[in-house]
Amino acid sequence: MNDVNALLDSVPTGLWLAGGPAAAASGATFDVVNPATGDVLVGVADAGVTDAHLALDQAVEAGAAWAATAPRRRGEILRAAFDAVTARADDFALLMTLEMGKILAESRGEVTYGAEFLRWFSEEAVRVHGRTATAPAGTGRIVVVKQPVGPALAITPWNFPLAMGTRKIGPALAAGCPIIVKPAEDTPLTMLLLAKVFADVGLPPGVLSVIPTTSAADVSAALMSDPRLRKVSFTGSTGVGRALIRQSADQVLRTSMELGGNAPFIVFDDADLDAAVDGAMLAKMRNGGEACTAANRILVQNGIRPAFTEALTARIAAMSVGPGYDAGSDLGPIINAKQVDSVAALVDEAVAGGATVHTGGHRLDRPGYFYAPTLITGAPEDSRIAGDEIFGPVAVISGFDTEAEAIARANDTEYGLASYFYTRDLDRAMRVSAALEYGMVGVNRGVISDPAAPFGGIKSSGLGVEGGSEGIEEYLNTKYIALT
Ligand code: NAD
Repeated sequence: MNDVNALLDSVPTGLWLAGGPAAAASGATFDVVNPATGDVLVGVADAGVTDAHLALDQAVEAGAAWAATAPRRRGEILRAAFDAVTARADDFALLMTLEMGKILAESRGEVTYGAEFLRWFSEEAVRVHGRTATAPAGTGRIVVVKQPVGPALAITPWNFPLAMGTRKIGPALAAGCPIIVKPAEDTPLTMLLLAKVFADVGLPPGVLSVIPTTSAADVSAALMSDPRLRKVSFTGSTGVGRALIRQSADQVLRTSMELGGNAPFIVFDDADLDAAVDGAMLAKMRNGGEACTAANRILVQNGIRPAFTEALTARIAAMSVGPGYDAGSDLGPIINAKQVDSVAALVDEAVAGGATVHTGGHRLDRPGYFYAPTLITGAPEDSRIAGDEIFGPVAVISGFDTEAEAIARANDTEYGLASYFYTRDLDRAMRVSAALEYGMVGVNRGVISDPAAPFGGIKSSGLGVEGGSEGIEEYLNTKYIALT
């Protein structure tokens, strides 16, 4: 535990304001818990509305100079932050495993992925372009320029404590916007350590603030009703996203919304069975199933279904469960007791309705918040598990006969974030990709996230994209200048 104590000692536990740690105005703190044990890791400052206003005052004060800072310089600071996070990859990985629970190998993967948004946007900072044209009537010139939207608020979930922050901080800073991050209360430590890294590499005070809080609704409402805030970028559940979209109407804020998913994972008879099983393991069990992109509904064509079910069951049953920091764990704990209850309720209801458990299907009797890796079939079509985001290590397989049926069932949801399918038929690959009503489609792949690609959903899964050359647009306004 020495390493852990030294690491925790190096993480700021105050709010991150004006380039350094600060106590909350109220003096309040709250506990961050290790989900593998239920023990308190450390207490952090609990921001209130007064602290939020202070963060916005500082963002406004620092924002003008940041917007005027040369894009090359902004890019260099982002690049230096990428280097610094990469140099401390082991610390970031362990910290995420401690506060969120995922296994260390996946935390390391998230450090690579999350840091890459800083490098990617360090490169995009110098590639913000406008355009010019002669007016068609020949009466003047049309000049289009891009400008930073201004102070931004980022609200992030607990499932990817680093990457969900860097996906917003990277483009905001590259575009010239100051940003206030409200991390999830379960996992505030990673963002606090990141803020320190940014300060160490020379980010001016006030450009990035981090305000952990147990009063998310009050703090975000206070900021969003202040006309100086110009942007809110949220990643989290669709219910909270809807509430924030409503709130954003009063000040007509720019919004980016990365919301819930209900990803179909379709396996056609002509698929490579082994590749499809590998892909399903990744799409379902990566991050303990706690991902918006997680395969929520595994739809398998009936010809291949028995073999696929048997192979996936064997893989899931062989997973070893334990604290994410123990070598040999394939699956860590679920984030908290409430989430275990939610997963258990979904499975229990499905089983009561006639579903068959092939492996797992129960909590684990040990300290912390563990649920056995599970595979079920035969869940009733109207059961909650067939339509709700599971957000846990539970695979649900059902069969289909035709391509048209698979597409219809895949699209029969209010969500439209990630989707996956496996086939060896190129025509089918093109046809099904076009027909899936999703912002993202993985073809013969179980993981699709890439900082260089636009990540985002349609329908109730959100508005806007993060990453890619498109991601920075979310933090830019378009201005038209009419010239003679
Ligand atoms: P959540 O909506 O409960 O919380 C997300 C964040 O919003 C947290 O920081 C929380 O403190 C804050 N929050 C909660 N209520 C709020 C309110 N009334 N006003 C302002 N802020 C509020 O979601 P979660 O449980 O932390 O995360 C899981 C959800 O996030 C899932 O639905 C998942 O699909 C989604 N998610 C989406 C993406 C994506 O990119 N589309 C990525 C990861 C997670």
